[in-house]
Amino acid sequence: VTSPRHLSLAAGNEFDLLRSIFARLGPAAGVLGDDCALIDVGGTTVALSIDASLEGVHFRTDWLSFEEIGWRATAAALSDLAAVGATATGVLITLGLPDRDRAVGNAVEIMAGVGSAVAAAGAKVLGGDLTRSDHYLVDVAVVGTVERAVTRGGARPGDELWVTGVLGAPGAALRALEAGQRLAPGLRHRFAKPEPRLVAGRRLGALGATAMIDISDGLAADARQLAAASALTLEIALERIPCWPGVSAIDALASGEEYELLVALPPTFSGSDASRFTAEAGVAIARIGRCATGSPELRVTERGRPVAAPAGWDHLTR
Ligand SMILES: [Mg+2]
Repeated sequence: VTSPRHLSLAAGNEFDLLRSIFARLGPAAGVLGDDCALIDVGGTTVALSIDASLEGVHFRTDWLSFEEIGWRATAAALSDLAAVGATATGVLITLGLPDRDRAVGNAVEIMAGVGSAVAAAGAKVLGGDLTRSDHYLVDVAVVGTVERAVTRGGARPGDELWVTGVLGAPGAALRALEAGQRLAPGLRHRFAKPEPRLVAGRRLGALGATAMIDISDGLAADARQLAAASALTLEIALERIPCWPGVSAIDALASGEEYELLVALPPTFSGSDASRFTAEAGVAIARIGRCATGSPELRVTERGRPVAAPAGWDHLTR
């Protein structure tokens, strides 16, 4: 049988469109639906992904410098390599530039930010393209290699759910910016310069992670994708979510563009394993729930009582 084994996606308009595209591609489609495409090249697994950042949709030029826009777009794309446990090799960038103000100088600034993010990941800018465009566009294709690839689809009943870092800052920053407020320096840095968790992703792969996804659309939405791909129920305890100061766990559950990792680990992964991981990877990891047999969905509880989980970011309608 040659039918492709696409990952199951969660409910939603964006994912209905993807399902239609997968079906229309038919045999022209590879295995679609994960954070990265994984292909074998002479015995090495190569990881590939592409992520577009568009002015007015993903960023505003009055909220971020052009250098920050370049960093953020690149970090978002590199985060998909982190989510499969890959090491970054390089990026290819398509820049869309409007025919206005100082677009040429701004393009160089965007690329300075791209360069910083790529250098921090130990990778290179390998190529790209330029086009005229109504809005600034930074489209980032990433390539890496991976020793032990972790997909979204490998979680097993009984695995425990862990999350890196602290959640909620990007959502809080967005709410403040939309209200016309200035951001405190710590919050602004977290929003403008997110860090792709490449070292953490690689380490978690080596430690036996069974499934992993980066949090781009919000913990709740991305947990639903992991549940759909792994065909099991995910349970998350609200009171266990590590939250940015002043952010509620419900808001942290909905906050997108976090670029932290949600990971399923066998129950043998202990608190002392977590401490060792934090020392090695430079980021905390917290146990927030578990994987259970059942319909592919997310169940959120607060001290044992069920609570409604927020919907995710819809890239097509918001
Ligand atoms: Mg992703």
